[in-house]
Amino acid sequence: MRQNQRTVKILAVSDQAVERVYTLASNGHFQDVELILGCGDMPYTYLEYLVTVLNLPMYYVPGNHDPRSTQSNAEGGSNIDLKVVRHKTFLIGGFGGSIRYRPDGINQYTQTEAYLRVLIMLPKLMLNRLQYGRALDILISHSPPFGIHDDSDPAHNGLKALNWLLRIAQPRYHLHGHTHFYKQNLANYETAMGITKIMNVYPYKVIEASH
Ligand SMILES: [Zn+2]
Repeated sequence: MRQNQRTVKILAVSDQAVERVYTLASNGHFQDVELILGCGDMPYTYLEYLVTVLNLPMYYVPGNHDPRSTQSNAEGGSNIDLKVVRHKTFLIGGFGGSIRYRPDGINQYTQTEAYLRVLIMLPKLMLNRLQYGRALDILISHSPPFGIHDDSDPAHNGLKALNWLLRIAQPRYHLHGHTHFYKQNLANYETAMGITKIMNVYPYKVIEASH
């Protein structure tokens, strides 16, 4: 094993297929990476390409431009919307979708609906706390939390339920997408909340996580 059980190198991707990632992946640039995490709104063909070329496990959540969770799947990856999985010693939770801004939008939730979705995750988080002494190490979501890396337009408000989930679960890392920073604003790319590092991974980031 290249790294010990308490660190993991992650390739996180979100919102946009980047030509450069194809090149880097096929040139062996990501050879230390052990895990791919997808934060939504990417063509499944892009995710499937990364899984095939890098031959790594991949977990992802759907975004508001993806098909409904139950109807399709990126092959070779696992959709972990409202699930918690274990990779090595890491507990990884997923929360797909964004704020509802169209009545017929797919993977879109009102603030209240998003709270109800967090409730579905609670029993698993409590079990983790009992079994491992912590609820989560890494949370991936499509949406940012409310007031953090979000925006005031109706489609890019963050979800308040995510702020609540972060307070309850206290993961070390929260990776999200959905908000595109076209201007390179490094001050906004990473925000600390308690012990959690909140990171916008758009369009991709390589992260060395530890716990
Ligand atoms: Zn989005």
